[in-house]
Amino acid sequence: MPIITSPSSTAALHELTSYEVVLRLETDPHRGLTDQQAVERMARFGHNSLPTAEGAGPVVRIARQFRHPLIYVLIAAAAITAALGEYVDSAVIFGVVLINAVVGFIQETKAEAALEGLRSMVRTQATVVRDGQRRTVPSEELVPGDLVLLEAGDKVPADLRLVGVTELWVDESALTGESAPTVKDDGALAGPTVVADRHNMAYSGTLITTGSGTGLVVATGAETELGEIHRLVGAAKTLDTPLTTKLAGFSRILTVGILVLAALTFGVGVLRGQDVAETFTAAIALAVGAIPEGLPAAVTITLAIGVARMARRRAVIRRLPAVETLGGTTVICTDKTGTLTQNQMTVTGVWTPEGRFAVTGLGYAPEGFVHDAHDNVAALDSHPALRWSLLGGAACNDAVMIEHEGRWQVVGDPTEGAMLVAAAKAGLGPGVVARALPRHATIPFSSERQYMATLHGDATSADSSGQVVLVKGAVERVLSLCAFHLNGEGVAAPVNRVAVLAAAAELAGQGLRVLATAMLPVAGSNDVVPADFDEELLSNRLILTGLQAMVDPPRAAAPGAVAACHAAGIAVKMITGDHVGTATAIAGQVGLLDRHEPAEGRVLTGTELAALSGAEFAAAVERASVFARVSPEQKLRLVEALQDRGHVVAMTGDGVNDAPALRQAGIGVAMGLGGTEVAKDAADMVLTDDDFATIEAAVEEGRGVFDNLTKFIAWTLPTNIGEGLVIFAAIVFGAALPILPTQILWINMTTAVALGLMLAFEPKEAGIMTRPPRAPDRPLLTRSLMARVLLVSSLLVAGSWWLFQWELAEGASLPEARTAAVNLFVLVEAFYLFSCRSLTRSAWRLGFFSNRWLIVGVTGQLVGQLAITYVPAMNTVFDTAPISGDAWLRILLIAVAASLVVAVDKRVRRGHAR
Ligand code: ATP
Repeated sequence: MPIITSPSSTAALHELTSYEVVLRLETDPHRGLTDQQAVERMARFGHNSLPTAEGAGPVVRIARQFRHPLIYVLIAAAAITAALGEYVDSAVIFGVVLINAVVGFIQETKAEAALEGLRSMVRTQATVVRDGQRRTVPSEELVPGDLVLLEAGDKVPADLRLVGVTELWVDESALTGESAPTVKDDGALAGPTVVADRHNMAYSGTLITTGSGTGLVVATGAETELGEIHRLVGAAKTLDTPLTTKLAGFSRILTVGILVLAALTFGVGVLRGQDVAETFTAAIALAVGAIPEGLPAAVTITLAIGVARMARRRAVIRRLPAVETLGGTTVICTDKTGTLTQNQMTVTGVWTPEGRFAVTGLGYAPEGFVHDAHDNVAALDSHPALRWSLLGGAACNDAVMIEHEGRWQVVGDPTEGAMLVAAAKAGLGPGVVARALPRHATIPFSSERQYMATLHGDATSADSSGQVVLVKGAVERVLSLCAFHLNGEGVAAPVNRVAVLAAAAELAGQGLRVLATAMLPVAGSNDVVPADFDEELLSNRLILTGLQAMVDPPRAAAPGAVAACHAAGIAVKMITGDHVGTATAIAGQVGLLDRHEPAEGRVLTGTELAALSGAEFAAAVERASVFARVSPEQKLRLVEALQDRGHVVAMTGDGVNDAPALRQAGIGVAMGLGGTEVAKDAADMVLTDDDFATIEAAVEEGRGVFDNLTKFIAWTLPTNIGEGLVIFAAIVFGAALPILPTQILWINMTTAVALGLMLAFEPKEAGIMTRPPRAPDRPLLTRSLMARVLLVSSLLVAGSWWLFQWELAEGASLPEARTAAVNLFVLVEAFYLFSCRSLTRSAWRLGFFSNRWLIVGVTGQLVGQLAITYVPAMNTVFDTAPISGDAWLRILLIAVAASLVVAVDKRVRRGHAR
């Protein structure tokens, strides 16, 4: 029977029983497909990925570049100049419009491609069973018939017919718009049903919120329901960020302002009795001069370069605005496990009420021993609590140990992996455990529940027909369910809670992660699952078997990164589900808690937080650095409290329940390796290495991006203001125009590309992480920068006016005098560019060659200036003429003088700043 090929033929699969589906898909419900089958089906059905949206064609995209008020002004100017018979001018202006469109098109395409590339870095992984083995594969490699395992936090990787479910709830809002999760089952449905009602199907792109399940792939890639929607809608992409939107608004206001000023210039000229055509040309010159044509492109490019730099440092930006926000981060709230620590767990000790045991060997290789207090290998038969603790840790466990090319790895949760390995070291390997304790039911682990429980048939029981519940989880939580502990004779005795908590606190105080294990034999014959296998069955009945303590060393880079954040005025707060002792110890090791500071209020637990009222809560949150045993809902409250206090918060998260906090935070940061798909979906940034140091690096890059944008704006505005004012002055004083519209366009276009854009490549300034974060409401241009912009504008106006008049007085022709003025503008801008490389430090201190793009740009610009001055064809087009060496000398002198003034201004302001 042929297997399914299109959604129309998969549509009926929900009406079949699981058995019929298995037959239809020619697969095995337990062992999955064979590798051979998977290869064949891949060749036949292709990758499980959506085709990239074709988007608009190049012509439409170029046409889109013209939709800008500033461009309308230029087109109008070109049309009017043509009507006035100034064909060359008109052609130049049209040329500029075209170049602008092409450059805009190329930039947009590149930026989009870069973002697209980044998206593919955050690959979705799927867990499948092939050839009877559980494996993690990229979701693109799934084929119809694959047996997929789902658990809370996963994104469904393809359309699946469910064949097994445990309390499986799926958020299908991506597909159906329904925001409340739906519960799933695996029974056949009668008759035709709409997608939203197919309870035995899980659709690609939807998110598992609770429970677990297994399903068979029925459709992949474009054949899925998501693929269908994708085809209909196309992927809408946007490069907009709050900053670009703000700038777009700014340029609209600017356009209106410029038009008003141009009209005013025209009116004044005409009233003064000047030639109408000439005045008109002047008004147009003013309009094109005052428009900062390069600004939108520079912003997009600077952001895109920032994104690429962050990606190189392993932080993938999922939403462009995050680049801006990152630079202003004032608080980083971070997980402990896996972010500040390595998430490479090894059980090093087991505590039981009867004694302590040490476990030797590091890592996931099951090589080592369990020693008793006399350093002898512990015999499990004489230590029943130890035996049941190890069995509990290994059987109440969803992780898998695999050996690959001689290296042992764990697929699944590292905490569970560590417990598997510990049991294996005592001879209780996965095979032994599975035979002795076949599992019948599961209460899965969740951060709220803080424990996991499983029900097993107990082949080791006296009549080998008993059942046993095994539990592992957070010490306080498991202990709250226990009434007994297992004593040296293997008999339940009343538990001594004080002794257990003291032992846990002592182990946690050493920075060890501590989990409790417990058991409960239940009456009933093998294979019979009690109907009430839930928390009620466990409550106050469990028998504590022991505590397992594991090391999870801090990441090597964590202390340095925490110190760097502190130096940068950014508060770092650890928010963890772990024990307060473990959290405090690790916080001390990475420098989050200063030993010399009073500890009062620096460490808070979830229980303490819950007891605080609104105002107290906010104050306590501000003061504390470590939050232990915190629930995901409290994370959301923490972010909101910090935001109410005016903070820009970056918050990490990995679980399903972290999604609301990630969305709420200014920057939601998800873990690329250990995080769930739900968390990645909600995040603005994904760390491909889960490392805290990467967040610090991303903040540093974010600051660099913001700096570079400010530098570009501070650099470009004086040219525009200067040009506008020179024209205005000429009209008001009834003098000849020192620069013509086409020349202005030359200056604006060439300097923006050759000079201004080079600032986007500017390396981050030294000390970027030793200054306090930018205030969230600080404008791009501070008052002192605005003052500098006006200073440079005035220098340009005064310098070019004086030079122009001087040249004329020396007997130069109008084209010669104008050429001198154009070269002056460019040279002052080129010198000023070096000053703009740092907003506060002197240009000399930066090192001339630290941004080699700048040298390339300046050289290119100078070649251009020689061309426009000396190449006859260019002279014709731009109304320029060759100028003398003396004129160059005057240009150079004025440019140097202007630079000195700027340098002095910078120095004086720096003095004030101190
Ligand atoms: P962080 O929030 O820094 O990632 P965490 O892993 O300790 O730390 P949670 O995942 O919320 O946070 O876990 C809370 C507690 O539940 C843990 O401290 C541990 O005691 C217990 N726990 C963690 N994983 C499991 C598991 N797989 N099974 C049973 N209990 C677990």
